[in-house]
Amino acid sequence: MSDDSKDAPRKALRRATNIVRTGLKPMEYHGFVNPPVVHASTVLFPDVDTMARKGQRYTYGRSGTPTTDALTDIVNELEGADATVLAPTGLAACTVALAAVVKSGDHILVVDNIYHPTRAFCDGFLSRYGVTTHYVDGQDLDAVETALTRPIAAVFLETPGSLTFEMIDVPKIAEMARAAGAVTLMDNTWATPIYFQPLAHGVDLSIQAATKYFAGHSDLLLGTIAGKAELMAKVRKCWDEWGLHVGPDDVFLTLRGMRTLDVRLERHQRNTRLVSEWLSARKEVAQVLYPALPGAPGHALWARDFKGATGLMGITFKDVPRDKVKAFVNGLGLFGIGASWGGFESLATLASLGSIRTAKPWPRDEHVVRLNIGLEDPQDLIEDLEGGLTAAFG
Ligand SMILES: *Cc1c(COP(=O)(O)O)cnc(C)c1O
Repeated sequence: MSDDSKDAPRKALRRATNIVRTGLKPMEYHGFVNPPVVHASTVLFPDVDTMARKGQRYTYGRSGTPTTDALTDIVNELEGADATVLAPTGLAACTVALAAVVKSGDHILVVDNIYHPTRAFCDGFLSRYGVTTHYVDGQDLDAVETALTRPIAAVFLETPGSLTFEMIDVPKIAEMARAAGAVTLMDNTWATPIYFQPLAHGVDLSIQAATKYFAGHSDLLLGTIAGKAELMAKVRKCWDEWGLHVGPDDVFLTLRGMRTLDVRLERHQRNTRLVSEWLSARKEVAQVLYPALPGAPGHALWARDFKGATGLMGITFKDVPRDKVKAFVNGLGLFGIGASWGGFESLATLASLGSIRTAKPWPRDEHVVRLNIGLEDPQDLIEDLEGGLTAAFG
């Protein structure tokens, strides 16, 4: 195996190769393939002068270890970023990135379909510290333009929305934000940088709940923020000030997950295409929310900008009592009922959209069931969904 730490010039390799090989330095670790899982607070130095020397890579556990470097190297590679910081959760990645780019008195613009706990941070912490959040329907470019006529420090995007799957024109909004002098952040957890690279589409900070597909096994929480060097120095400063850190075992498990990300996503995508096609032919289902499905909302924008689709989708039921929709979810056997997604196992959740949208309320008579399509045999998933529909609707 080659050693990536050698200085020999290397030809540019393709993504599927980089995701498997980046961050490996076996010859630095006696030939062992994977980097060691470094558990550390203290780093020792041979003498006082060495300890005082500036610019050393490893100085204290919080500032990074060979384990965290292996993961940030691979995220930099995937995102096309200069620098990445690791946050203890996906939510912490959203909140520290926002906190790093605003100050008291600022106004920010956030899409209405944002992950709800991120919204709670804007309405709670940011509001208490004098930052005002304006919510906008990201699909309405006129509304975005109008909102940008006042001074806006930051624009926070997420597409497709993780409950209702709205697609927005990211390059267009990023361009409008840049012209208005705002920093653009995007929660790109749904597509991952395998299928959409925010930084290549004009976004300044790309955020990932690594809890979902990066880690991929429903066994840890972690977040990443990636961007160009100058802005990331600001993010890193805020992250330092808050004393954030991720335990080495979770970093290592995420690194292990990354090695199979590309192949897992191919299977999630194939399964979800089959399930979404089957669901779109069912008369009980009002609408299938999966932008990769031809005819689904947002399909044209998805086809223009995204290289693929992952395993999170929704279905809506219209003009039926909520109890029937509950009976459908309760009637599923293979699909677990629980929060989160991106793991290998399928999940179903009944969304509660009631009062969380302010710019564009979701219709009250339209119930959304969100499905995380896992890596099981798609035919088993389809038969399970058929059983659930029969249990609820006869
Ligand atoms: C889950 C999720 C997060 C938060 O990730 P955690 O690791 O659970 O904190 C952020 N954004 C989106 C879109 C998510 O689905």
